[in-house]
Amino acid sequence: MKKIIIAIDGHSSCGKSTMAKSLASKIGYTYIDTGAMYRAVTLYALRRGFIQGDSIDEESLRQEMPQIRISFGKDVDGVQYTILNGENVESEIRGMEVSSKVSPISAIGFVREAMTAEQKLMGNGGAVIMDGRDIGTTVFPDAALKIFVTASDEVRAHRRYDEMVQKGQNPVYEDVLKNVRERDYIDSHREVSPLRKADDAIILDNSYMTIPEQDEWLMNQYIKAVSEK
Ligand code: C5P
Repeated sequence: MKKIIIAIDGHSSCGKSTMAKSLASKIGYTYIDTGAMYRAVTLYALRRGFIQGDSIDEESLRQEMPQIRISFGKDVDGVQYTILNGENVESEIRGMEVSSKVSPISAIGFVREAMTAEQKLMGNGGAVIMDGRDIGTTVFPDAALKIFVTASDEVRAHRRYDEMVQKGQNPVYEDVLKNVRERDYIDSHREVSPLRKADDAIILDNSYMTIPEQDEWLMNQYIKAVSEK
């Protein structure tokens, strides 16, 4: 069967990674979480003190970009985690501090350039499912299958809230909702590679879908894409 690139873009917290991971494990593809890469850069900038309130010391970050190495590992159960310069930062990058700063960091041109270059390398050989905001528009505009996922703000905030509680964090629902809306706004309005649906992407609104239903929907899109042409 031919090996394709599957691009899954969409709004924050709408289950892109859940569906991407599930399909990847069923069809033996590599899953790449590009949001985790932007989160790792944000964590690096926070730790180095390059983010103070609303101001970002872009010049210092630019100078240190070549020192930021991001990769992925898998634990004994096959669960993927994010590695920043040799350290497992999976849990730290999912907290509210990183979430509240990741969109302004992701709007910086040189950060996007560096991440996009890495992502292109990672997806080079095909057989990859990549999720993010600009995969179908910028990273892999020729991807054979492009999905654009969305759901209502409240449904998405509830999902993110539940996920954080499950991970032992102590979120406030209103803060999570505000963060989801703020990230969508910044991601859609930035100058470089804003979040938008690629013209040839298929829209999925999964507000009222169960996880098995969305998995089945995605599997059907995949089967269609590999049997076409
Ligand atoms: O996917 P996730 O919600 O973890 O992404 C975190 C943030 O990273 C997004 O809100 C967005 O600002 C940024 N991002 C991006 N481009 C991508 C993936 C994520 O700008 N391809």
